[in-house]
Amino acid sequence: MQPFTYVRASNVGDAVKALSRGAKLLAGGTTLYDLMKLRIERPERIIDINHLGELKHFDTSGERELVFGALARMSEVAADAGLVRDYPAISESLWRAASQQLRNMASLGGNLLQRTRCPYFRGGEPYACNKRDPGSGCAAAEGLDRGQALLGASPSCSAVYPGDFAAALVAFDAEIDVVGPGGERVLPFEELHREPADTPQKETTLEPGEMIVRIRIPVTPLGRASTFLKVRDRESYAFALASAAVALEMDGDVVRDARVAVGGLATRPWRARAAERLLIGRRFDESAARAAGEAALDGAIPGRSNAFRIELGIRTVTDALMTARQRA
Ligand code: SF4
Repeated sequence: MQPFTYVRASNVGDAVKALSRGAKLLAGGTTLYDLMKLRIERPERIIDINHLGELKHFDTSGERELVFGALARMSEVAADAGLVRDYPAISESLWRAASQQLRNMASLGGNLLQRTRCPYFRGGEPYACNKRDPGSGCAAAEGLDRGQALLGASPSCSAVYPGDFAAALVAFDAEIDVVGPGGERVLPFEELHREPADTPQKETTLEPGEMIVRIRIPVTPLGRASTFLKVRDRESYAFALASAAVALEMDGDVVRDARVAVGGLATRPWRARAAERLLIGRRFDESAARAAGEAALDGAIPGRSNAFRIELGIRTVTDALMTARQRA
């Protein structure tokens, strides 16, 4: 690991200044240290924001919105009784991520900004990677593609966005508050992550020096009948082969409102509005759920060895909707 300077921020302004000068933010450290050991991140300066108490609070009791500081820890938020009762999809998306030890350390903001698990990205210099080294090529294009994205990929990059929490946020129309050298602004969460197109090194729409300080979710009756379903190679401490965050609001047997997002299949958190349109106003049964799953995966482009994840994604959405219906 290359030597670096460690600085502790005493307020958000300090952190933004350091960030603007090229420092890396240290929150839970569960991504940054990992990538530093792999020599993928080589910061000369680290700014530790763990002492900024204002970013640690979260409140799920508001009448208009749920508010989460960017430094709130995943395990604390996941266990919040109000969230478990009223927004199970959000709580479940946090519980299903990583391991208990990592959830105890990892912050919500850091979780949203985690980087891809593409093995060629993490494998370092032996492998060409446009995300790590723009213009160098993409080793995954000719390599193992079982875990690569089926939605939102480009010839430059097919890396999956790996987070679970993000799938739930995108389903619930979350917004994030961002602070940077130009002040504070609000960003719809759906606009935070970019598709790779021909610049896969640009993963988010954050401007230089900007940091996430808060995540806000509007209160909605859809929360209670929601779920997050994650399918993976083993039942804990593994990334999704396919996941779904869904919510239903019912009027008898008819769907009044619906939310569908998929994870583990796309290059960014993926809201499936076509699936929602298909459900709203329709009598709900298993065939409607299956049709929504097919709509959610519409446009998926398989590679050499990941086509099985299209049907897996369809079934994941279908099963998640059946669970949400039971909760409605
Ligand atoms: Fe790099 Fe993206 Fe190709 Fe993976 S898929 S090797 S992250 S360019």
